[in-house]
Amino acid sequence: RFDVSKPWLNRVIEREDRQYLTATADVSFDIRKGETFALVGESGSGKSTIAKMIVGLLEPSAGEIRFDGKVMDFASGAAMRALRRRFQMIFQDPFASLNPRWRVGDIIAEPIHTFGLLKGAEVTREVGRLLDLVGLSAADAEKFPHEFSGGQRQRIAIARALSSRPEFIVCDEPTSALDVSVQAQILNLMRDLQDEFGLTYLLISHDLSVVRHMSTRIGVLYLGRLVEISDAKRLFIDPQHPYTRLLLDAVPDLALSGRRRTPVTGEIPNPIAPPPGCAFHPRCPHVMDICRKQRPDAIPTASGQAACHLLTPEGQKPRETTA
Ligand code: SF4
Ligand code: MG
Repeated sequence: RFDVSKPWLNRVIEREDRQYLTATADVSFDIRKGETFALVGESGSGKSTIAKMIVGLLEPSAGEIRFDGKVMDFASGAAMRALRRRFQMIFQDPFASLNPRWRVGDIIAEPIHTFGLLKGAEVTREVGRLLDLVGLSAADAEKFPHEFSGGQRQRIAIARALSSRPEFIVCDEPTSALDVSVQAQILNLMRDLQDEFGLTYLLISHDLSVVRHMSTRIGVLYLGRLVEISDAKRLFIDPQHPYTRLLLDAVPDLALSGRRRTPVTGEIPNPIAPPPGCAFHPRCPHVMDICRKQRPDAIPTASGQAACHLLTPEGQKPRETTA
């Protein structure tokens, strides 16, 4: 069980897309063993920042992250090193995440050496086994990353991530740099590997078709706040938060027939200074007076939770409004 308790992320600055993003986030969720928990949201929602904290690449300035019930101790080198073997990350861009001057075999073997898992000929055998596992061949160990296609490079990145025998893998937009024709192959590979090794995934994506294909549960982020958490199936059938509805309506294949489409206007506000009250209020078609002043608390829903003043504490049915 992986718990994150709030407020665990506060005024964190990271360089992303050449801009400094300050995420004043309020995020609390847990990831269960063996599931795929997806975090979805637009650019600037804080998805990648949260992912980096969970794998220990970025220290939260408030709050805490727990793994197997234990608080992650960023101050302890030994503790973080142990966690780094158990946590791996697959990045969006396999072109950038593989060292172009290294042979593929050395790239995949690096975590094996770092964590002292195997020696000598065993390493070579293990690299061959990992390449085979991801649909490449042992002979590919001698080649360099530029000799492979985008999809093949992501397979190499997956083999590298698996080489430390992790339990938990954060997949940050794992297919968004790939051709559409290749995306499904990589996603299917990830699912097969999850089944085979009992892996737990945190999937970061802005692409709801990817998320729908992959996840058990979904958290919807807006400007550093989790506005909804839901079982994946339920989210697509009966979204509770107006922002979730906006996201679903923006994907033609997912738009549900018979559901009234909610027109949503406006740009995403600056994440450095989120609007007061409900951060979504400038774009929400249902905005009420209270939304501009008071931040909505998360309320339990039939399949998770959502934070919106339309939801009544007793149940999950939205109030009628004349917005
Ligand atoms: Fe819209 Fe108000 Fe709900 Fe925010 S709290 S999503 S502004 S109705
Ligand atoms: Mg990102």
